[in-house]
Amino acid sequence: MKIHEYQAKEVLARYGVAVPRGRVASTPEEARVIAQELGGRVVVKAQVHAGGRGKAGGIRLADTPEQAEQHARALIGSRLVTPQAPQGVPVHKVLVEEALSIAQEYYLGITLDRAKQRDVVMVSAMGGMDIEQVAEEHPDAIVKVWVEPWQGLMPYQARQALYDAGIAREAVSTATRFLLALYKAYVGSDASLAEINPFVLTTDGHPLAADAKLNIDDNALFRHPEFGEYKEESEEDPIEAEAHRRGIQYVRLGGDIGIIGNGAGLVMSTLDEVSRAGGKPANFLDIGGGAKADLVRNALEIVLMDPNVKGVLFNVFGGITRGDEVAKGILEGIRSLQVKVPIVIRLAGTRAEEGLALLQGTELIPAVTMQEAARKIVEVTR
Ligand code: GDP
Ligand code: MN
Repeated sequence: MKIHEYQAKEVLARYGVAVPRGRVASTPEEARVIAQELGGRVVVKAQVHAGGRGKAGGIRLADTPEQAEQHARALIGSRLVTPQAPQGVPVHKVLVEEALSIAQEYYLGITLDRAKQRDVVMVSAMGGMDIEQVAEEHPDAIVKVWVEPWQGLMPYQARQALYDAGIAREAVSTATRFLLALYKAYVGSDASLAEINPFVLTTDGHPLAADAKLNIDDNALFRHPEFGEYKEESEEDPIEAEAHRRGIQYVRLGGDIGIIGNGAGLVMSTLDEVSRAGGKPANFLDIGGGAKADLVRNALEIVLMDPNVKGVLFNVFGGITRGDEVAKGILEGIRSLQVKVPIVIRLAGTRAEEGLALLQGTELIPAVTMQEAARKIVEVTR
């Protein structure tokens, strides 16, 4: 689960990381009031789950409360188009903070290194900008240290990494404290990623987390009731939110061919085959193992909520999932949902024949293999 910058800053502040003064606003008027309270110049920051907001115009400086209100008016309700989100992400809130006079920008980050089976702490003096770009163009500018899980991040490791990265001497002791706090927050929140980018040194020598990012491992959410209120805001796509309420694994992808399958691997392969056949998948949807008719009907309803969907491909390989149950679900769906788009179905495995028999005489287009199914759905939706 991704949480917003202002939420990540709330968490980090609890662990002792200094953050700029500020508050979140849902309306332009609120933004003006906050700017007034803060006094002086402020920065108005779009709260979206996407990086690169600065370049996308989502970070705006304001000299007066009126200007802060104008910026908030322009941002709230708009869609922020970033390199990672070309379709744009809706802005519902802005963070209004005291503007900083930045002398230096550094990068501090922690994530899991699967290959090394350890958490990796990353530090760079080239902070502020896109860290992926730094990693590509100046890989030597990122210093990494791996954490022994039984030991945790040691202060000497943090200090060494910061020195090696070439961080200004006067910033090292605070950066060490921040890095240790970031690690505590990362472990304590069951995070999969924790970042302060940039960690800034202001012109008058104050170290602060100017931006913060925290991704929480969904599998650990059950033991973090404190993140309950963050969850509401984390699902910005209404269809994804509805799918998750119904216990369905669904990810919207932006294309026009709806995909339903059982098992994440099979669904991923189906996405690949559809792409290979020249189509654009609208979504990922996994009905899981042993799905009953009701769940299949629900899955079809979810996929059809996306108005871009021009056709649906079912790819089910029955193990504990039974072909006749899937067929019943599809039939119920067609009956109750007034489906107007073509549906291609590839059904194999347990009770596939019974399932296909149930679908005889309907307008469903059968296919024997996944490749054939992919070709057919691309053909009929073209
Ligand atoms: P991101 O682009 O989504 O990562 O958003 P950031 O919060 O990291 O902002 C991007 C850049 O905007 C930073 O690297 C800074 O250079 C600049 N920036 C952010 N906050 C402030 C601020 O309060 N004052 C000033 N002057 N610049 C800021
Ligand atoms: Mn940033």
